[in-house]
Amino acid sequence: MDPLPRRTEHLGRYGFTCGCTLCYEDQADGKASIARRQSILYQLQAQRKKQSSTDIEGLITEIRKTYRSSRSGPRPDLYACYRSLAQALSDPDVILEAELLALEALGAVFTRSRPAKVSGQQSIHVLVSPALGLQDAINSYLKLSNDSLRAAFLDGAR
Ligand SMILES: [Zn+2]
Repeated sequence: MDPLPRRTEHLGRYGFTCGCTLCYEDQADGKASIARRQSILYQLQAQRKKQSSTDIEGLITEIRKTYRSSRSGPRPDLYACYRSLAQALSDPDVILEAELLALEALGAVFTRSRPAKVSGQQSIHVLVSPALGLQDAINSYLKLSNDSLRAAFLDGAR
């Protein structure tokens, strides 16, 4: 999912101005916030793989400040940020949380149960599927599924 300036540029070539909820919400955040968000996203992409999870978390905090507190719905620009964070982390539980936050950025809603006493596994249910970025969402679900299969295999091998 492209950020607003890229979407606007692309659609503008066809003389089309998008009036969808996402474009409306992005525009309502204001020009200064949109520009600031773009520059942080650029920083994140330009230095990919050189950043620690702490660096990325700092950038995510900065991007979060560019959204109005009253804003509702997906914040797809955060998707790539949480994916980068997940890649920079090493604790499987924290990685899982970052992957879920990435899907929530696309509009997914989950319920998370506390870890079961016996298995120690947290159970997660999808209440709402992501509204945007279908290909990204599929990649995320595949990644989560691979991770949990690997964890189950390692548990079995112990
Ligand atoms: Zn739109």
